[in-house]
Amino acid sequence: MGRRPKNYVPPPPLVSFKCVRCGQNKPETEFYANRWSKIYVAQKRVPLCKNCIQKLFEENTYRYGEKLALYLTCAALDIPYISTRYDKIVETIPPFTLGKYIKQLQIN
Ligand SMILES: [Zn+2]
Repeated sequence: MGRRPKNYVPPPPLVSFKCVRCGQNKPETEFYANRWSKIYVAQKRVPLCKNCIQKLFEENTYRYGEKLALYLTCAALDIPYISTRYDKIVETIPPFTLGKYIKQLQIN
């Protein structure tokens, strides 16, 4: 093992969170960041993993239809529900996916 240079900065430890739904520990990249939230302040991440959020969205879509499922998912994620944004995605870049909606929120 060689000597480390004097200005060596160790990489930050990999942060992991526990999903409140599936109970698995996963790296932080598996959780959506939320800079708007007044609920998920400490971690700045939604405590549900992306996989669980997708499953919930699919279950709610089956039960209530896609638009209401989006509304419920936005409430769980504590992100804005913008009905016209949903319509625009369906119109311009179908099919609608949760990923497209969240991505557009982060860009704009
Ligand atoms: Zn999960």
